[in-house]
Amino acid sequence: MRRRTWVLLLVAVLVSSLVLTLAGCGKSSTPNIAKIKKRGVLKVGVKADVIGFGYKNPATNQFEGLEIDLAKRIAKELLGDEKKVEFTGVTAKTRQGLMDNGEVDMVIATFTITEERKKIIDFSPVYYVDGIRLLVKKDSKITGLKDMDGKTIGVAKGADTQARLEAKAAELKVKPKFQAYETYPEILAALQVNRVQAFSTDAAILKYYELQDKTTQILPDRYSDEEYGVATKKGNDDLKDFVAKVVTKLKDSGELKTMWEKWGLVTK
Ligand code: GLU
Repeated sequence: MRRRTWVLLLVAVLVSSLVLTLAGCGKSSTPNIAKIKKRGVLKVGVKADVIGFGYKNPATNQFEGLEIDLAKRIAKELLGDEKKVEFTGVTAKTRQGLMDNGEVDMVIATFTITEERKKIIDFSPVYYVDGIRLLVKKDSKITGLKDMDGKTIGVAKGADTQARLEAKAAELKVKPKFQAYETYPEILAALQVNRVQAFSTDAAILKYYELQDKTTQILPDRYSDEEYGVATKKGNDDLKDFVAKVVTKLKDSGELKTMWEKWGLVTK
């Protein structure tokens, strides 16, 4: 009888330590997801000025667009409620820092997946493809990058625009100059006073600024394929894998296409 008690006790100790070990493993393999679940809200960095993607609608004071819907969907899958998401407006310049210092869990903000960036940031599979274009004054006679030799193109800090355009300009054998600005409104202002002769970034972003000034127009030529991905901090593998699964599911089920249609977006 006494021996049986000892055996039972030993089994109990072994089982409980196994349970504790497994629980510990589970915890350490999903530390970022566990942190978000504990907090109860997903923090996402989004654009505030990209109509159809991440746009803070002044009429409602709410963020709306494809990237907002994506964030809500990730919150739903992660926390069971699409409302458990908090948005922070980001720019091309601020988005990586906000992610690295933990102020946001992820960035869904017209963020192009590039080989350079993949060394320091993790990305989900592509959820949209846009392209770089030029916004110019209608009366400027500029018809494309080929007319920009010796002229200045305004680009945003933290954007891949300059590198992409430099490669294209070399192909076209022209040498434009570049001026980098902190924000997009500053580039529009520079265009208006002719400090730059073209404002360049992804067409999706330019659209809002074209609407601000009826004397400007987006030119038809497109100079890149900007493949957008959801960004997470390098090494946050549990979160990266979770987001990748959600994006893949949306793509495979056709829901992503429905989301593009909802926001009037078509990809080339
Ligand atoms: N999509 C481009 C990039 O990631 C343009 C910059 C931006 O998103 O504002 O560099």
